[in-house]
Amino acid sequence: MTTPQRVLMGPGPSDVPPRVLEALARPTVGHLDPYFLGLMDEIRDRLRRLFATKNEMTLAVSGTGSAGMETLFVNLVEPGDKVVIGRCGVFGGRMADVAERCGAEVVCVDAPWGQIIPAQDFIAAIKEHRPRLAALVHAETSTGICQPLDGIADAVHEVGGLLALDCVTSLGGMPVEIDRWGVDAAYSGTQKCLSCPPGLAPVTLSAAAVARLDGRARKVQSWYLDLSMVRNYWGGERAYHHTAPVNMLYALHEALGIVFEEGLEARFARHQAMHERLRDGLAGLGIEYVSAPGHGLPMLNAVGVPEGVDDAATRRRLLDDYGIEIGGGLGDFRGKAWRIGLMGHAATRRNVTLLVAALSEILGR
Ligand code: PLP
Repeated sequence: MTTPQRVLMGPGPSDVPPRVLEALARPTVGHLDPYFLGLMDEIRDRLRRLFATKNEMTLAVSGTGSAGMETLFVNLVEPGDKVVIGRCGVFGGRMADVAERCGAEVVCVDAPWGQIIPAQDFIAAIKEHRPRLAALVHAETSTGICQPLDGIADAVHEVGGLLALDCVTSLGGMPVEIDRWGVDAAYSGTQKCLSCPPGLAPVTLSAAAVARLDGRARKVQSWYLDLSMVRNYWGGERAYHHTAPVNMLYALHEALGIVFEEGLEARFARHQAMHERLRDGLAGLGIEYVSAPGHGLPMLNAVGVPEGVDDAATRRRLLDDYGIEIGGGLGDFRGKAWRIGLMGHAATRRNVTLLVAALSEILGR
């Protein structure tokens, strides 16, 4: 196995710092070892700080970001429940699919790709349908937009619903304030702005969401993701549920340690500064953003493939000749957009300069 060393500037995974890789290689201990249980407690504390929440039910689900998504829906939705979902890209669409598989009656509030869901449209749907659960993607990785939440949590709570938020791409790269925003349930992934390999999904549930789980009429349809059992391993009883991915949790512990050594404010400022630097560099090459002005994400830059340029061939040259990975477009943006990630450890001046120089050589601009 001769693994290439890449510069990961796509939609994730992002570059993993050596300290995190070294943590993965430490001796495996038992998943009920007192040493390991102590580490799990620290991970929970760190995740609470990162999500800006006091939620007791905060833990890392064994699985990627989609397992986090599925965890929220299988635990909080019962067949026949109404669920309202904002859909303006791939991941809102995936949430709708997951909710439907749980037997929910799904209502989607759509917006064109590259645009946000207007808060007034979403609130109107909440008032009309009075859902048990409403869900939005905070950072839509397929289009590079940041979804504003103005007034949405209040509207959802007024009709007795819960608000769920996908924070897979935003967590660790920009403010995510679960308690202040009134979000009841959120999930993320480790491989984006946390710069940890893919494999775990941080999840947090408010007291109201836990009450919903406890009040279910029927069992959670997924045995593996049933938080009413998983919580007994992460919490008080420490009862065996499934064998925790011990070394992945070492890696997450280390990655979170790095996040707090840098400090959240400094980390968010770095992502923003690198985004602005990249934006200026791309503008110099005549490359423009496809995400709505004023709503772009710092860590995911969705830009148009310039007229006359071969999308796949350009990305291939970046990879083969410069070792740089960027992402292609998904769905409506397939073949039309590039997705340039500036996530966690990869959001550096060196990477921005390297990418802009490489694109300039390839495009001859
Ligand atoms: N949600 C968003 C916004 C994402 O960007 C992704 C992955 O890119 C997911 C969910 C799914 O995560 P995963 O691919 O880790 O399962």
